[in-house]
Amino acid sequence: MTSLTTAIKNGNTVQIPTWTIQSGLETKLHETIVIHPSGRVWAQAPAQGVLDFSQISKITLFIDTLARAPTTYARIVDHPIWRELYQTTQRKILYADGTHIEDTMPCQYCGIILPPRLLQIDHQRPQNGGQLEAVVKTMRVMGLTVAGPHGEKCTQLEPRIREAMHAEDDSASVAVLMTEPDRQVKGFKVPRIRAVTPRGMRGAAPGASSTGSRYSLSDEGKVFFSVVKYFQLVERLERQAMNSVTNLRPLCGPCNGSRGNGDLKVNKI
Ligand SMILES: [Zn+2]
Repeated sequence: MTSLTTAIKNGNTVQIPTWTIQSGLETKLHETIVIHPSGRVWAQAPAQGVLDFSQISKITLFIDTLARAPTTYARIVDHPIWRELYQTTQRKILYADGTHIEDTMPCQYCGIILPPRLLQIDHQRPQNGGQLEAVVKTMRVMGLTVAGPHGEKCTQLEPRIREAMHAEDDSASVAVLMTEPDRQVKGFKVPRIRAVTPRGMRGAAPGASSTGSRYSLSDEGKVFFSVVKYFQLVERLERQAMNSVTNLRPLCGPCNGSRGNGDLKVNKI
């Protein structure tokens, strides 16, 4: 998504239409947004969301950092944040000829621990029709939706991103976001990431905000999405959000196979 910042920088001051995502659906609004190259981008009359160039630049950096290409998303298992969230560690596995030590992680449904080659990487919002919901899910950990995240994964990513947003240069931001357990970055309070509890092993879900408000963009979210739309980068954003840590999880074959395609949250097809 870094091409977005290049596009803004090389462009002129322009007034663009405002787009949002409301309860998971793309909607055009009557307001307009003014973009100033390398300056501030804001929603005009009524002046609501304001994002400056450095915020947009950080958001695109974080989207890139959390994503894998559609052809290599299975390699997400090597992502440092994935390894923390999904308890990836070397464990003893029993074989007919004894124990082997291998990288392993639990299925996020039944909790069985397996090496990655015996797990499937599931897209939480489905590849068939779940693009926009995946975009909102990713924008939610960036603090760009009306209600914040409530799942165990995204509630942990959000504070990391908020802290990483404060770093001045991009490499420090990425260091804060990706830092491993027990390795703090000087000058930052990097929140620890705990392992996510597999779904079948969790208690009752705590009371949460409404699904509609979690799948609606905040004023800042509208600004970001409108700029992405103006520069014709929505498809790219969708691809990245679909194949991001925010939207992927490990499942064993039987758990993945038994779930079907009913994973859209708001606008079921
Ligand atoms: Zn399973």
